[in-house]
Amino acid sequence: MTHTALITGGGRGIGRAIAIALAGAGATVVVGDIRDDDASETVARVEAAGGQAMAVRLDVTDSDSVRTAVETVRRALSSVDILVNNAGWDRLQPFMDTEEEFWRRVVEVNYLGVLRVTHALLPAMIENRWGRIVNIGSDSARVGSAMESVYSGAKGAVLSFTKTLAREMAREGITVNAVCPGPTETPLLTEILEGQQRGADIVTAITRSVPMKRLAQPTEIAAAVSFLCSAEAGFVTGQTLSVNGGLTMC
Ligand code: NDP
Repeated sequence: MTHTALITGGGRGIGRAIAIALAGAGATVVVGDIRDDDASETVARVEAAGGQAMAVRLDVTDSDSVRTAVETVRRALSSVDILVNNAGWDRLQPFMDTEEEFWRRVVEVNYLGVLRVTHALLPAMIENRWGRIVNIGSDSARVGSAMESVYSGAKGAVLSFTKTLAREMAREGITVNAVCPGPTETPLLTEILEGQQRGADIVTAITRSVPMKRLAQPTEIAAAVSFLCSAEAGFVTGQTLSVNGGLTMC
């Protein structure tokens, strides 16, 4: 059976690598992203590698956008049976320098976006009695990360949601898991560090703190996601898998 996989924030970084990996494993992938040009570029790369893909405009912070995207996919392909909630956003700031507008944006993208897209796609998975949901968390939620308090809290909510939904969905044939990337070489990491006076020093400090002494590559995160989406992972649910060179061991 060919599966259809939606990857939110699939236009670049880790999401793009996940799209390429899932297409390589035989899924038709739907690249949902807030930026059409990025989503189209991912589709081009999937197709160049021999996979099947379509792009759909998707803003996970906007219920109408989610509804329209899901309807577009349903008409073009069929129901989505693999969902990777990957879209995320953050900036480094000490908590006392943050304000409500920032809190709302971080929670909207990183947590409420997960709820919106999952809520829209679950009915078809339940009807088909098969589904895979992988939520991209962050190791910052597992151990805390200075200057990422709001983001870490939102990602912590994602990890709690993952476990609870896994229990609710276990009898429906749907698995729900989370993957927590360690620091990964993506445009987001670059953008987060751009605003910092000592960005290069921060990268050096992060790299030193990783037992394997390097950043992760997006393909390494994608490989873990791909396993959790596979038929072989059918008995794995409610789990959080860190891919981080040993940064955290919990
Ligand atoms: P990138 O910013 O490189 O890619 C994320 C993609 O999501 C971008 O294309 C971005 O669009 C898109 N996006 C942002 N907001 C929305 C939205 N509202 N609706 C739909 N798409 C949106 O991030 P990464 O690849 O680094 O991160 C992927 C996931 O991994 C995130 O959940 C992140 O929190 C998590 N993560 C990343 C780590 C890292 O070190 N890179 C470490 C731990 C976790 P745009 O280009 O417009 O921003």
